[in-house]
Amino acid sequence: MALDALSTWRSVSGRDREAFERPRVYFPYLHDVPEDEENAFRAFVEMLSDSHTFLSYSDAIDRVLNGPIDKPYVAFSFDDGFASNIAASRILEEYGATGCFFVPPGFIDSKLPTADAMREFGFSPGTCEEPMTWSDLEDMKSRGHEIGNHTLNHRTLSSISEEQASDEISRGADRIRGVLGECRHFAWPRGQFKHMTDIAARTVFETGHDSCASAERGAHVQPLHSDPQLLCVRRDHIMTSWPLRHDKYFIGRASETASGQSNAWPHGWSVRP
Ligand SMILES: [Zn+2]
Repeated sequence: MALDALSTWRSVSGRDREAFERPRVYFPYLHDVPEDEENAFRAFVEMLSDSHTFLSYSDAIDRVLNGPIDKPYVAFSFDDGFASNIAASRILEEYGATGCFFVPPGFIDSKLPTADAMREFGFSPGTCEEPMTWSDLEDMKSRGHEIGNHTLNHRTLSSISEEQASDEISRGADRIRGVLGECRHFAWPRGQFKHMTDIAARTVFETGHDSCASAERGAHVQPLHSDPQLLCVRRDHIMTSWPLRHDKYFIGRASETASGQSNAWPHGWSVRP
């Protein structure tokens, strides 16, 4: 209710417009896109296409690292590897966009009944979907999308031992590279800082990933001009079940609150060896 009132006020005030036009790199991310929400996703992409330039995930990371961040940019990503991401990738293509699909390879390889897999891999309650197959992922890659690592088995890296975390990160990357030949990007499950450790983040870079993404809200406004390990990507969670004005609220807030600090790891973390 409060969000309703706030988002209505924002669109009336024109603050949205100003926030939308701020030069920045914005990373919205989604999970499954159920069939009856495909049009809502299309509307979301279309709304952004009016005011933003779409970048591939890799180009967006490069833009945050090296600049210039001279206009509003967007790069889409999706977590967990659900089968409905295939249709979502086609919708992106309608607008000349691509996405990075962060998958836990253990889920892709899983033969568990769907409901059991949701529990085994700890996906959000309410989601019940099959994984994409490796051939789906190969096909998406051939159409210009990227496939990223989301740990082997979707584990919360701060809740397991250092060694187990390292295993989850490296084996996830190995499996993706083994099948698809490449895996440049990583996003940790559940996405908040409390679900990650600085040691695990260091492992992400030591295992050959070019970037490490959170699901902490925000946007990137200042290029780093330095080491990729200093960048903690901020991604803004979007759900296609929300009305578009709620999406606009989050887009606006991420834009308004973004600063140089939005590139950084939490204070005291030493991600760089
Ligand atoms: Zn996830």
